Amino acid sequence: MNNYDVIVIGAGPAGYVAAIRCAQLNMKVACIDAWLDREGRPVLGGTCLNAGCIPSKALLESSALYQQLTHDMNGHGISVSGVALDVAAMINSKEQTVHDLTRGIAGLFRSNGIKWLPGRGQLLPDRQVQATAHDGSQQTIAATHVILAPGSTPVQLAVAPLHNDTVVDSTGALNWTGVPQRLGIIGAGVIGLELGSVWQRLGAAVTLLEAQDEFLPMVDRQIAQSALRLFQRQGLDIQLGACVKATDVGSAGVQIDYENAAGDHSLNVDRLIVAVGRRPCTDGLAAAETELLLDERGFIHVDEECCSSAPGVYAIGDAVRGPMLAHKGAEEGVAVAERIAGQAGEVNYEAIASVIYTHPEIAWVGKTEASLKQAGIEYCAGIFPFAASGRARAMQETEGQVKVLSDVKTDRVLGVHIMGAQASELIGQAVLAMEFGASSEDIARTIFAHPTLSEALHEAALAVDNRAIHVARSRRR
Ligand code: FAD
Ligand code: NAD
Repeated sequence: MNNYDVIVIGAGPAGYVAAIRCAQLNMKVACIDAWLDREGRPVLGGTCLNAGCIPSKALLESSALYQQLTHDMNGHGISVSGVALDVAAMINSKEQTVHDLTRGIAGLFRSNGIKWLPGRGQLLPDRQVQATAHDGSQQTIAATHVILAPGSTPVQLAVAPLHNDTVVDSTGALNWTGVPQRLGIIGAGVIGLELGSVWQRLGAAVTLLEAQDEFLPMVDRQIAQSALRLFQRQGLDIQLGACVKATDVGSAGVQIDYENAAGDHSLNVDRLIVAVGRRPCTDGLAAAETELLLDERGFIHVDEECCSSAPGVYAIGDAVRGPMLAHKGAEEGVAVAERIAGQAGEVNYEAIASVIYTHPEIAWVGKTEASLKQAGIEYCAGIFPFAASGRARAMQETEGQVKVLSDVKTDRVLGVHIMGAQASELIGQAVLAMEFGASSEDIARTIFAHPTLSEALHEAALAVDNRAIHVARSRRR
């Protein structure tokens, strides 16, 4: 039997980062991963690289450029003609980006001496793992520690079963080589909005059917409400409180029967995306004798330090509690590797940023006003609109705002909420501030370059104490 210091099951951002960090710490590491690309070749990177973060952002970038060229240039005094769309080439370019990055991870595995075992892994008792290769051959390997990082997969809906490339999940919607005229999406969460934006920018008429009455409940209320208005103005038809009762695929597309407060409705679309959340990939992950505890939704039960119920077995990433985000899983991977090496690895769950890559982008870190109110924590809010930012005006990107929330007694920053251009980059500054335990005064006393979008964070921090400079006096609190 082959013996390792660490066996990692799953090579998404949680598993491959854990494997690399373990190797950096001089451990002998094997990593088993089941992912096959569209040509049936084993590839590393999991959902994030192959069917998630990277391909979706590639298409968001490409579609945003097309949108700018076809709609947003006149304001800059540039007229553009002869713009042509080649969706197949756009998809190929996305595939090339994915290919380059997954090959990069394979190179990192080689240079770190990590044994890559393509195939499926199953945890057995005593930190043994059965590795089943794609050709069906099996071997049992053992390690001092096992890290489970099997990730997640889309939730399916009984009322909307997947059907070829007509009714698809997020993976299918990243590979269409033509633009559907009418696109339906079930679920107006992160994936629904991002993929809805891609196809709407490329010309589809997009309707999102969202079961909840509240739009983006995890987002700051003010920002969610203005985002809803903005997205609807962009052409996304977002129906809240919509309960899908049945779908029927025919030669003319898909008929969706749904119900809302106004009664029963029928919607006909050419294609449909089901984007109603993701569930952990834990079916058959562990043999029954291992006593690996799962919760009622299939997540692996772990403590604060990612230790599972099985001794010496850790679990990280989408398959355990917490937000389903690549950077959260990656950080857990680093922390677990360092703990195994006897170091003090730690994840600060209070300072993990979330981003929705719409236009404008929405990004936040820390507490919302609603959660602070619920917890009875008194806070001050400072808001600065991008309409008052010189750089945002020059970019003609004036939608949105920055909101800083700080503790009323200590002034410690408790949360930062941004909607605006490049919010995904700006939020990093807020994460850094929170990681260092900054007060809003610390940000207010920091000198930001002019003219930059970052100045909006500075002004929002000044606004906590009612002293933002570029806001008319009557607008101050
Ligand atoms: P995964 O990336 O799911 O990787 C798990 C790997 O384990 C897979 O390769 C799987 O095949 C393998 N595996 C599972 N079971 C076994 C087994 N028994 N044996 C062997 N291998 C196994 N997150 C962000 O932070 N930012 C984004 O912009 C973002 N965009 C997204 C867009 C889309 C369309 C989707 C679907 C997701 C997006 N996410 C984003 C979420 C992100 O992809 C996940 O949070 C992240 O990939 C989770 O990492 P992971 O390593 O836990 O699991
Ligand atoms: P989500 O939880 O963000 O959104 C799913 C939406 O579907 C919710 O609003 C939910 O109310 C709705 N819904 C559920 N059942 C429904 C039904 N039967 N009918 C209508 N609506 C229904 O999940 P997602 O968009 O599928 O994304 C999954 C996860 O992937 C997210 O939690 C996120 O963590 C991750 N992700 C992150 C990013 C990013 O970081 N930018 C991008 C994509 C995905």
